[in-house]
Amino acid sequence: MKYQIPKGLFDILPYAKESFKEVGKWQYLESIIKKLAIDYNFEEIRVPIFEKTELFLRGVGGTSDIASKELYTFLDKAKRSMSLRPEGTASVMRAFIENNLSQEKKIHKLYYMGPMFRYDRPQKGRYRQHHQLGIEVIGDKSFEIDAEVIDMLMTLFNRLELPNLKLLINSIGDLDTRANYKKALLDFLKPNFENLSEDSKARFDKNPMRILDSKDERDKKILKDAPSILDFLSDGAKKHFENLLNILDKLDIKYEVDSKLVRGLDYYDDTVFEVVSDKLGAQNSLGGGGRYNSLLKSLGGPDLSGIGFACGLERILQTMIEAEVYFPEKTGPFLYIIPIGKDAKDFSIKLAKDLRHHKISVDIDLNAKKIQKSLGLANKLNAKNALILADDEMQKKRASFKNLEKREQQEIKFEDLKNFIKDKFYKL
Ligand code: AMP
Repeated sequence: MKYQIPKGLFDILPYAKESFKEVGKWQYLESIIKKLAIDYNFEEIRVPIFEKTELFLRGVGGTSDIASKELYTFLDKAKRSMSLRPEGTASVMRAFIENNLSQEKKIHKLYYMGPMFRYDRPQKGRYRQHHQLGIEVIGDKSFEIDAEVIDMLMTLFNRLELPNLKLLINSIGDLDTRANYKKALLDFLKPNFENLSEDSKARFDKNPMRILDSKDERDKKILKDAPSILDFLSDGAKKHFENLLNILDKLDIKYEVDSKLVRGLDYYDDTVFEVVSDKLGAQNSLGGGGRYNSLLKSLGGPDLSGIGFACGLERILQTMIEAEVYFPEKTGPFLYIIPIGKDAKDFSIKLAKDLRHHKISVDIDLNAKKIQKSLGLANKLNAKNALILADDEMQKKRASFKNLEKREQQEIKFEDLKNFIKDKFYKL
């Protein structure tokens, strides 16, 4: 084959049974997300697919894997460095600042959906273009809003009926907390430095807290006795975390405190959380997020704090498929017209135009030759009804209307056809 899709990308197709690449599954997931956004009163924001590279270096943090290794960067024709967005938060913050949205009101609840790009080694659950739902709440520092954001993520998964998920939660405190903790962690790791994995050795100076995230078995063994950041929380951070756990208990949201959860990005403070699935293997994170108190300010914006999450749509769909949860049937046209013969075809084309004018979905088998074969196609399309117009029926000016779900058939006179079909449609 001459042309092939680049590695790590995939097409989303009209037909791809049993796969997350089937567009109907995406449409269903997107409809659930849109309803969720309405129910929690979030507004949509759409930001560009690429930005100036420096935004991501600043916004995501230059020491994170996403910004240091995985950016899709290119020079435009004026030799400016641009990058495809690897996540949404930096762009949303840029748009928020640039468009002065803080003037509009005090608290902003925003969501976005779309593709993200990361130059990573492709494998199951990890693609070079993947899709995220992300939300950001800007202008509210309370633990109650942390709880609402977490509740929203868990409600999404509940509505999709995803089983066996685990919500991990942690607090990484404020800047002081982390400065003190980093020192204690480095002191603890120093005698074990030679035994750390190569990745962790590289992180030792640049971003030691990320070592806690390591999936390497040797690292995990060493880290078992590492100091816990929860012992280093300032009084304020501790109170925030306790209050948050309290409210989660009251909302009956189950969680597991994981003091080693730090998340990949540099900008988080206080609350961090992640939802993992036991159905996904190595790439088991469905989504996660956290609070960021200084990101907006550090990008030149107002001193407002935020909290958000992002979740991966491919992994959500994959989990749904593996858990065999419900996806709605693909809906086909309301009516599939099967004309046999030239006169029948002419009549059908006009009828279809008329019905479509009334917003009734219609398709015609313009190549119809054998009724049985065309009925097979109608079933494949999930059409609700079929209208058969064969030559002898043309002479009698009658058509057979077939309800494909109930398997009932009746003869309808031409002059009654339009009203009959409209009646059926509007009674749905
Ligand atoms: P992150 O910003 O890395 O926390 O990503 C948010 C979510 O997006 C993750 O929890 C995954 O579900 C999903 N995700 C991240 N990177 C990829 C990728 N390369 N391929 C597919 N899904 C991804």
